[in-house]
Amino acid sequence: MIIALKSGVNQEDLKILVADLEKLGVKVDYSQGANQTVLGLVGDTTVINDEALRANHLVEKVIRVQEPYKRANRAFHPLDTVLEFESGGKTAKIGSGYFTVIAGPCSVESREQVVCIAKEVKNAGAAFLRGGAFKPRTSPYSFQGMGGAGIDLMLEAKKECGLPIVTELMEISQLELFENVDMIQVGARNMQNFNLLKELGHSRKPVLLKRGMASTMTELLMAAEYVMAGGNDKVVLCERGIRGFDSFSRNILDLAIVPALKKKTHLPVIVDPSHATGLSWMVPAMSKAALAAGADGIIVEVHNDPEHALCDGEQSLTPELFKNMMETLRKYAAIENRII
Ligand code: PEP
Ligand code: MN
Repeated sequence: MIIALKSGVNQEDLKILVADLEKLGVKVDYSQGANQTVLGLVGDTTVINDEALRANHLVEKVIRVQEPYKRANRAFHPLDTVLEFESGGKTAKIGSGYFTVIAGPCSVESREQVVCIAKEVKNAGAAFLRGGAFKPRTSPYSFQGMGGAGIDLMLEAKKECGLPIVTELMEISQLELFENVDMIQVGARNMQNFNLLKELGHSRKPVLLKRGMASTMTELLMAAEYVMAGGNDKVVLCERGIRGFDSFSRNILDLAIVPALKKKTHLPVIVDPSHATGLSWMVPAMSKAALAAGADGIIVEVHNDPEHALCDGEQSLTPELFKNMMETLRKYAAIENRII
């Protein structure tokens, strides 16, 4: 971090500022020019409150050289994080060379529905089953999910098909229902629910953290840092499209964030082409693109009867289309030397 001081600073005040900074464990180097003094701070500057520094009467400018996130930062953890799960007698991995496919309905609707889809996606090669029990809907009049009963059905589907399950947690009070859930999803709308993130930091369950629809890459990484700061390193990031100005697709799939994230963080990065596009016929193309962009996997909505789905039918692949897509993805994965 670099701090440019105002000209003519009082030396006594400067000593106090430097002592305060050193108390935080950073080393402070001076560079005194004819007109200006510049302080160079080295060490762990994540603990420094730059807003307070900017408000200090001695300070002209503060430039952060290092990113404000540490645990998620590849600079401090060069090796990829790889998460391992038990999946139908095999080990499913997310990160580093694997292309992991998570598939299932937007929402759990009934036992028959979720078990049927679970078997179909498993047979087609998915490594995880997704399915929402608590649904964050834009309208209070839309289907809100089955709640705890939906989690029970996801667990039944897990028993039937052997796939680990991913489902969304909307608030801390629901956490006790997630004891047997393999990966907890934090949805786009909750990416900056800091109390929820802190609570998940105390948990040891893997967290699938979706990018907020108007969140920057740094905000996504800082949200991951919240979970990691609590001691939970098992975070998977998910690009699910951001708000744009054109309505030809539900969101804009920001695929460029994939290589950008892979450069900045060691955490696995997956893509959700279903919520990004909102249209099932775009999902195969965007899934191939996600693989080519270097994503560690995809999370895709699949429904046995999209026309009658209670949520997101238009973006849901049928089991047959999902199977076809998986066959194509396997060919693409082979070219990229990725394990699907
Ligand atoms: C979902 O995955 O079901 C979902 C609601 O996604 P998002 O939070 O990305 O909108
Ligand atoms: Mn959905």
